[in-house]
Amino acid sequence: MKILRRRRSLVTGGAGFLGSHLCERLLQEGHDVLCVDNFFTGARENILHLLSNPHFELMRHDITFPLYVEADEIYNLACPASPIHYQYDPVQTTKTSVHGAINMLGLAKRLRARILQASTSEVYGDPEVHPQPESYWGRVNTIGPRACYDEGKRCAETLFFDYYRQHALEIKVARIFNTYGPRMHPNDGRVVSNFIVQALKNEPITIYGSGQQTRSFCYVNELVDGLYRLMQSPADFTGPVNLGNPTEFTMVDLAKKVIAQCGSRSELSFKPLPEDDPRQRQPDIKLAIEALGWEPQIALDEGLQKTIEYFRSSAIQ
Ligand code: NAD
Ligand code: UDP
Ligand code: UDP
Repeated sequence: MKILRRRRSLVTGGAGFLGSHLCERLLQEGHDVLCVDNFFTGARENILHLLSNPHFELMRHDITFPLYVEADEIYNLACPASPIHYQYDPVQTTKTSVHGAINMLGLAKRLRARILQASTSEVYGDPEVHPQPESYWGRVNTIGPRACYDEGKRCAETLFFDYYRQHALEIKVARIFNTYGPRMHPNDGRVVSNFIVQALKNEPITIYGSGQQTRSFCYVNELVDGLYRLMQSPADFTGPVNLGNPTEFTMVDLAKKVIAQCGSRSELSFKPLPEDDPRQRQPDIKLAIEALGWEPQIALDEGLQKTIEYFRSSAIQ
């Protein structure tokens, strides 16, 4: 007899920026959630409001070590995501992506559970194709300071597809582009959080290089919706699928928007461009629209408003 019970979702990196929003969404959808995190960049504060929920469980664990738990599906998000954090201990960053993926895939294999990998637009490196479709193989420097992240994530994708082919595992690979919103770390050096914190303090806005490099920014709730839809998609849809907002901005455009929305007196201050900083990045999201019916609707102005409110009320006090 089939016992009816709530679906059990394991979220690695669940105490981080994206992971905490995903845990919230899964609870709203009626799942039981096991959040696994080693708190390297995540924080209890991000999930404090979930701790009293009887359907939420928190486990402190580093996924580079084996994990024996029970779950019906696994969202593998654990990995520091900002250059400052992932370059702090690059060997651990690669271990988290590679050993972490092996352990989570081994867990999924034992449980016959569906598993989703939070991959990244960084697998495209500094791209020569613009915008980037999933079929583009990327241009990554294997020995540069970003390689621990980029190559770790590329190897994780390889592992996912080898477990899929070799062990018939149900896999889902999302290539996530720059995402922003409440619970970003105030001091992880990401451009949106840096600019907002600087603008709120009326300090100079640090533009790296000419500020003409581009990025496209997706609001966190929409990104999480993309991950959720991908997990629910038919078994034969593995991805990789790009998830991101295709509207592209230069860093100077972004700085001007943030200054205006914060009502700030900050001025622009130009600094050297970090090594291997991609010049442009924009997702081609045709596949996500077609396969998942997913397309971001929240414009940068609207999402920035909510993010600025968050930073005003909590993060930099
Ligand atoms: P984050 O740093 O806020 O969250 C990562 C979480 O993983 C943190 O809570 C951290 O403590 C945890 N973690 C790190 N190493 C771990 C380990 N070895 N074992 C267990 N937990 C560990 O970053 P985020 O922005 O929420 O990113 C989540 C995922 O999405 C990452 O895999 C990242 O690569 C991917 N991603 C994020 C973005 C973005 O714009 N935020 C873009 C592309 C891809
Ligand atoms: N693993 C885990 N939890 C499990 C099952 C496996 O953490 O429930 C880890 C285990 O440590 C192993 C890895 O996942 O090293 C890969 O497992 P797999 O079964 O693919 O490989 P094997 O055990 O044969 O090396
Ligand atoms: N950037 C910037 N000023 C900052 C932080 C970042 O001009 O204070 C630039 C950075 O050089 C890059 C872009 O903003 O070109 C996005 O940087 P982020 O670290 O947020 O994301 P990623 O480079 O991983 O896309």
